[in-house]
Amino acid sequence: MLTAEGLMVFYENMLALNNIALNCGHNQIVGVFGANSAGKSTLMYTLSGIILDQKIKEKMRGGEQITVMGKVSFEGQEISDLKPHLRARLGIVLCPERRRLFPESSVLENLKIGAYMATRQEAKDTLGYVLDIFSPLKKLLRRPAGFLSGGEQQMAAIGRALMAQPKLLLLDEPLLGLSPAYQQVVMNSVKLIRETKKISIIVTEQYARPVIPIVDYAYIMENGSGVMSGSGPELLDNPDVKAAYFGV
Ligand code: ATP
Repeated sequence: MLTAEGLMVFYENMLALNNIALNCGHNQIVGVFGANSAGKSTLMYTLSGIILDQKIKEKMRGGEQITVMGKVSFEGQEISDLKPHLRARLGIVLCPERRRLFPESSVLENLKIGAYMATRQEAKDTLGYVLDIFSPLKKLLRRPAGFLSGGEQQMAAIGRALMAQPKLLLLDEPLLGLSPAYQQVVMNSVKLIRETKKISIIVTEQYARPVIPIVDYAYIMENGSGVMSGSGPELLDNPDVKAAYFGV
């Protein structure tokens, strides 16, 4: 489904991604784990193509020079130079770190914004689906998103991404700032989305523990480099990985 090879990203002279390779198969959940600043968001921006927009924006305002190298392919097509909105059209949809909802718009408006590429019927069906899996949102549809709890906001953010009809959903640190109970709710929903929608999901997190039970395969990043990869049990078998990313 998605293959990335030799990804390198420089912010000026700072190497943020160093020769990253990654694979995500159809209907798989793939984890990417790494500490603060390991490069997880940069990776998500590179897969979704947003880094290309950032690069242009920085150039226009005379800011830092961003250099992007390497190859990204999606369903057999090379998309390395494809703009983010065209990648979204192919089905690569990013749910960004810190949710990025429109705080003054209602939950319903936020969800509808996600459906800008969907047909009317798809939007209607997906809204019903989102409210089924994230049922607490049903009572919150008219509330401004800025007045939701962190867990509710995360549900709305994933819901908005689903409204865009993803084939590959990129979830950047969806558990950030959530209570352990909400972390569990969100992870169970992600698993359910994979099972019911038959889509692929790449999820980044700082701590692997809540995520590892639902992944088919995972990568560990340190300082922009991929240092290890394997299935959940394989990673758990490694004492260094256990200490650093599982807190055991
Ligand atoms: P976090 O958990 O803090 O979000 P992360 O793993 O997502 O971390 P990135 O946000 O991808 O990491 O950052 C990787 C490195 O690139 C960091 O050292 C960060 O400071 C740097 N970086 C990120 N964005 C920029 C930018 N626009 N300009 C310069 N450096 C940047």
